Amino acid sequence: MILSIESSCDDSAIAITEIATKKLLFHKKISQELEHSVYGGVVPELAARLHAEALPKILEECRPYFGSLKAVAVTSSPGLTVTLVEGVTMAKAISIALNIPIIGVNHLVGHIYSLFIEKESEFPLTVLLVSGGHTQVMEVKSLEDIKTVAKSMDDSFGESFDKVAKMMNLGYPGGPLIQELAKGGDRKKYNFTVPLHQSPLIAFSYSGLKNSVRLAVEKAEESDYRDIAASFERVAAAHIIQKLKKYFKEVPPKKFAIVGGASANLYLRSQIEELLKPHKADLLLSELKYCSDNAAMIGRVGVEMYEKGLFSSLDELEVCPKSVI
Ligand code: ATP
Ligand code: FE
Repeated sequence: MILSIESSCDDSAIAITEIATKKLLFHKKISQELEHSVYGGVVPELAARLHAEALPKILEECRPYFGSLKAVAVTSSPGLTVTLVEGVTMAKAISIALNIPIIGVNHLVGHIYSLFIEKESEFPLTVLLVSGGHTQVMEVKSLEDIKTVAKSMDDSFGESFDKVAKMMNLGYPGGPLIQELAKGGDRKKYNFTVPLHQSPLIAFSYSGLKNSVRLAVEKAEESDYRDIAASFERVAAAHIIQKLKKYFKEVPPKKFAIVGGASANLYLRSQIEELLKPHKADLLLSELKYCSDNAAMIGRVGVEMYEKGLFSSLDELEVCPKSVI
């Protein structure tokens, strides 16, 4: 079995995965959404302190599995340095105490493998990652062959939902709150410009849209927020659809997946389903409970890396806030 730890942002999670069957034997996550909600975003120092409280509590529940562990896998990048350190330090202590190897996992690879929890992986795959820190398209041929073909130049898709929610004093995380508010709104009411719509670049940008929404919010009454949310959601998704359309002209999709916390967005999902229809491409999605951060996806990558002997040494394994993918 592999014990896996996730602490890259505001979720403390630990999982136990059986290596041979990829079965998830244990998974527990303690989210800090409530604690950060009053600040309208994640406060790193507070997040680190809450991980230091939550992770040992969850680990205690894993005691019955200690004798069967063959390795410990932990998210080591990307994420918030001070929160990554919490998980990595715990993983190093487990590695020393139980005399088992340690595996450093890239959180973004984790999001990709959230598609394959308790399942065999299927590649090649074109993957759209939409999360709190990333908006990127990747061509994935295998665990070790992942090529990023488009990414955000500034804010991410999920982050723009968080910031718009903050402008409207809705709380955090903004994605589900904006999605809910948008349901009753008029998507056409506000004519926000689709980012980079005249640019030939296949890349993403959300800071301009965020600022246009800010101006609209400042001028609006609270009763207009529904229409602003609905119009924002339409344009935020249209940006991704326009760029994917351009990309698909060069590289038609065969199998396409949406992963990351914001892949829970139903409007984006429906737009992508429409886009894929003429290509007759399969759409893969993670189970809703594995879209946002969790340790099951880190354990799933851990199993792949264990089988390939991709271990880290205790001295070399360091946290890295930026992703290399
Ligand atoms: P990263 O994975 O890039 O390091 P992260 O781990 O913080 O970032 P995730 O937990 O994968 O991000 O996703 C959280 C993000 O997803 C938040 O920005 C949240 O607002 C967004 N999100 C969640 N549900 C929805 C939704 N229904 N619509 C839009 N965004 C959503
Ligand atoms: Fe994430």
